[in-house]
Amino acid sequence: ETIVVAVDGPAGSGKSSVSKAAARRLGWAYLDTGAAYRALSWYVVERQVDPTDAAAVIDALPDFDYRIGTDPATSHVYVGDTDVTEAIRTPEVTAVVSAIARVPEVRAFLTGLFRGIIRKTDRDGIVVEGRDITTVVCPDAPVRILLTADEAVRMARRSAELAGHSAAHVGEALRRRDEADARVVDFMNAADGVTTVDSTDLDFDQTVDAVIQV
Ligand code: C5P
Repeated sequence: ETIVVAVDGPAGSGKSSVSKAAARRLGWAYLDTGAAYRALSWYVVERQVDPTDAAAVIDALPDFDYRIGTDPATSHVYVGDTDVTEAIRTPEVTAVVSAIARVPEVRAFLTGLFRGIIRKTDRDGIVVEGRDITTVVCPDAPVRILLTADEAVRMARRSAELAGHSAAHVGEALRRRDEADARVVDFMNAADGVTTVDSTDLDFDQTVDAVIQV
């Protein structure tokens, strides 16, 4: 049986890079669930579907042909034959993802997809990262972590990542997205049995150490 490590947290908490690094160190698989919400957003925009039109978004689901690798060293994302690894990180996609993510049918569809990927893992363990992994996708995981950091620190880290965009703009977009997402799933508070790792005063390696410790 594959050991599942569930990691949730807000945007800019370092979830993705920390989870990926922890998986690499353990020689385990890694699944970034936000990438699927982003890829669906990219797909919807590509099909010229209004992202706020829930019925139209639901209509697009059966044709959404999504693939993601679980090797933490090389995780490419495909929709059909298109490599969307870079395209799903643009501000345009990021701006519509919360509207897509609040549709219950979308969440159920992607949750099923994630569970399928997790079942197929051939490694000893998999680190699965997102917003609702500890509570909805894998509530029975033996290891469940909420990765947090103070808001100012999260924004500073994210602006450093998105060099070229103004810090104020990045900060505002991040805050708005967290607010919208938190109305759908609570990733700001640890559910029962979930261990909080606060990275506010930790550097990257210390945060990875803390996660591996758990
Ligand atoms: O983690 P990342 O910032 O890439 O996630 C992008 C978006 O996908 C989030 O802002 C949220 O709307 C959605 N998401 C979600 N549930 C997850 C992972 C991501 O709703 N488990």
